[in-house]
Amino acid sequence: MIPPSELQGHVVALHHVAIAVREIASVAPFYAKSLGLETIGEPEFVAEQKVNILILVAGGQRIELVEPASPDSPISRFVEKREGLHHLAWEVNDLEAVLSRLKEQGVSLIDETPRNGAHNTRIAFLHPASCGGVLTELVEVPNSASH
Ligand code: ZN
Repeated sequence: MIPPSELQGHVVALHHVAIAVREIASVAPFYAKSLGLETIGEPEFVAEQKVNILILVAGGQRIELVEPASPDSPISRFVEKREGLHHLAWEVNDLEAVLSRLKEQGVSLIDETPRNGAHNTRIAFLHPASCGGVLTELVEVPNSASH
């Protein structure tokens, strides 16, 4: 058995795959109607990233459609070139612990401290250069917080 203290700050599960789109309204029907994913609520505005996010789920797997909410959104430049896969997000149960451990290990952090994500989560992004070229998000879900 691994002592609980050593499990702190590790990934619990893949939390979501984010797809950057120019307009949620024009892409959502493919996922909701054609593929039959379940839409969770309405698009949510996330002020810190200046984006709107729509969540869709199937079989416990979750994708997020992310559209820019303003021209200076970090997503705007991305979707100017093309829509597509934007990042993978991993759920962790102690975001601060993970960030400090990754920093010690020399992982390149975009966010050194957590910020607010959709649905009361706390999130932080890691630089793709440290993640095999994939923009990587860590998510701490409110109820899974270990402290
Ligand atoms: Zn995300």
